Amino acid sequence: MNAILNAENLVRVYRARRGPFAKVHPIRAVDGVSLNVAAGETLGIVGESGCGKSTLGRMLLGLDPAHEGRVLFDGTPLPPLGTAAWRRSRAEIQMVWQDPLAAMDRRLCVAEQIREPLDIHVIGTARERQDRIEELMGAVGLRKDQASAFPHELSGGQRQRVVIARALATAPKLLICDEPVSALDVSIQAQIINLLRDLQLGMGLGMVFISHDLNVVRNLVDRVAVMYMGRIVEEGPTEAVFFEPEHPYTKALISSIPAPGRLLDPDLIITGDPPDPANRPKGCAFHPRCSAATEQCRHDAPQLRPTAQKRTAACHLVGTSTQSATT
Ligand code: SF4
Repeated sequence: MNAILNAENLVRVYRARRGPFAKVHPIRAVDGVSLNVAAGETLGIVGESGCGKSTLGRMLLGLDPAHEGRVLFDGTPLPPLGTAAWRRSRAEIQMVWQDPLAAMDRRLCVAEQIREPLDIHVIGTARERQDRIEELMGAVGLRKDQASAFPHELSGGQRQRVVIARALATAPKLLICDEPVSALDVSIQAQIINLLRDLQLGMGLGMVFISHDLNVVRNLVDRVAVMYMGRIVEEGPTEAVFFEPEHPYTKALISSIPAPGRLLDPDLIITGDPPDPANRPKGCAFHPRCSAATEQCRHDAPQLRPTAQKRTAACHLVGTSTQSATT
């Protein structure tokens, strides 16, 4: 399947200062990330808070320009932020944010919210735009009489439905969703996840789904990429990664998913907080928290490479065990 989105070796660096006279430290929020998404495919990006997944999402949309690397959409480099070409590209790449209220203009009713991108991109006649609004409201499960409602008159789930309808108004090829259900109640989360899945299948959309919630990701995505301190440490088909994780960090994340009657494996519990990103550990960045770390891990950074299990992982031990298993 042809990729509609290719990210090649993306790097994004922030400069942090811990006081007015302190030294400036570069923080590599995204550090050499490559990925691709095919039409009709959903890629999940997971990891702890601060791992760089939201920055990566903004880079895929061009909102945070890459300091190194590039993003190709349909084989063409994403235009620079703020240019007319970039604004045109927004018709084909849309984003669904975590907080639907913050993403909406509180002065506009539901119909006006959904019509906004059609007006901006000059799509259809007035009659066609009205028909499109009604079609989209039906597709996301909003009633016709809610067209005149304002954001403060809607529940959190209804607001997110409006935001999704607005994102789909221009018939984009790619949808980037950044924690789209984390602000919603659990029962509403399931409805929105099912809605996204149905819409994606029906429209053949490519989708990038960013979340810290592994349960949500497992139920939605085709492939999953696990991020740690700005880098992908494991990537592969969802079933394979969830049922047979290879990287110690992925194993720990997955073993921490609550399941009735299952006790947490003490060997897999991650201890300590993520390291200071301005002072990245030498070697494997996960080594201070990894129970399997060896001397090599403290000095050599593992590269992301294919494993025998049809995925990629960045861990010295995954390579070792694969080699020994095949000899
Ligand atoms: Fe742990 Fe070493 Fe693998 Fe890093 S490279 S995850 S420290 S075993």
